[in-house]
Amino acid sequence: MYAKFPYNEAIDTDAKLRRSFRSLKFLQMEDPIRFDVWAKIAPSAREDALAALRANGVYVSEIELRKAVSESIRNDALVKVAKYLPLSTAENIMANSAWLSEPRLYQEGYSDSEKAQFCPKHELHFGGCLGCHICRNFYVQ
Ligand SMILES: [Zn+2]
Repeated sequence: MYAKFPYNEAIDTDAKLRRSFRSLKFLQMEDPIRFDVWAKIAPSAREDALAALRANGVYVSEIELRKAVSESIRNDALVKVAKYLPLSTAENIMANSAWLSEPRLYQEGYSDSEKAQFCPKHELHFGGCLGCHICRNFYVQ
């Protein structure tokens, strides 16, 4: 008969290795970032902006959409106009949407805040402590 010892992780090398592997894997499995586009909307572009934002599915409801567009126009403020995009799509929207003014590129989920940083080379507003995701080549193209 073998004596049954209580499980002791401190002497279980396999458990330590599994735990290290899990945290390493967690870091590696973070997805490359996607992008949001923010912009201002000129009063004359209201209807075009509403149609485009509706098509882009940025806002969950029509009320939320109309409120965002109205506030952007009234306050000359940035509003999110497209989300969760690969870089090529975001750049295409920024270059080819006549109803946008002053479009800006953001890491998905970020907006103007104290936490957002800026890469002048890529004109990307981003978060986190690892630097610009385009410089690091960690993004969806
Ligand atoms: Zn950069």
